Amino acid sequence: MYTYYALLEDIAYIDHFGVETGSIGETESGRKIPFVHIGAEKGSQIIVTGGIHSREHISSLLVFRQIIYLLNNFPSADLSSGGIYFVPMVNPDGNLICAYGEKSAPPAFRETLRKVNGGSDFSLFKANVNCVDLNTNFDARWGEGKHNVREPSGANYIGPRPFSESETRALRDFTLRVKPISTLSYHAMGREIYWQFGQNEKDMRRDKAIAERINGFLNYRLVNDDGTSVGGYKDWCISALGIPSFTIELVNDKKYSHPLTDDGCIDEDFEKNKLLPQNLLKFASDML
Ligand SMILES: [Zn+2]
Repeated sequence: MYTYYALLEDIAYIDHFGVETGSIGETESGRKIPFVHIGAEKGSQIIVTGGIHSREHISSLLVFRQIIYLLNNFPSADLSSGGIYFVPMVNPDGNLICAYGEKSAPPAFRETLRKVNGGSDFSLFKANVNCVDLNTNFDARWGEGKHNVREPSGANYIGPRPFSESETRALRDFTLRVKPISTLSYHAMGREIYWQFGQNEKDMRRDKAIAERINGFLNYRLVNDDGTSVGGYKDWCISALGIPSFTIELVNDKKYSHPLTDDGCIDEDFEKNKLLPQNLLKFASDML
């Protein structure tokens, strides 16, 4: 499993090469949520995120591999038209709970975690340390989702109010500072692309065109929104910021199931996705 500790080591390693790294803010238990920036400071920016759901550690690994690929193959990192902010792991606390159980959390959280989880095996856990599903906690038709639950849970708990969690506030504030022209969020699993959230017709045409260009590389499945999923980062980016935003579900679900214990399960997906950040920056810039 790709853990927060491995990510911190990886980021410390690339830091030596003068890459801009930093933190978008802190988790509920005070851990830093790292970012890596590659490309020009000025011009159009996009944000690529992974690891908002604890058990989807391979999405963090994929994002970090994208960073390494970009640094190795475009050493000058001159993307000319702008830059890419990578946030490989939005939910470090949840990642460590998945890997090491409730003992990875500060003592005050442990009893609830254990009770909500119903045992010591956290390998399917998706939430943060407060048992909130961060990808339901954004202010985008918050609480209207088909699978939303209203009490602490390993998945689908929306939290007491929109942006109740420091992780979602950190990502919101970071996004408002960066003002990206597009965002890309990696999840697992199922090889699908989500791109809709009640856009007006004009934006719908724009976003569908970009989704189709993305799928030219991926050959996944473009999913039409049925209105049952709300409160996610992509949903907020589309509805509050009016920018094209995409959720990509990695991993062939015919071949693998959760918990994803084999890091090799993203090897094929990495080949398809390795150039996507640079390409999305271009696709979205073309549409401005
Ligand atoms: Zn997910």
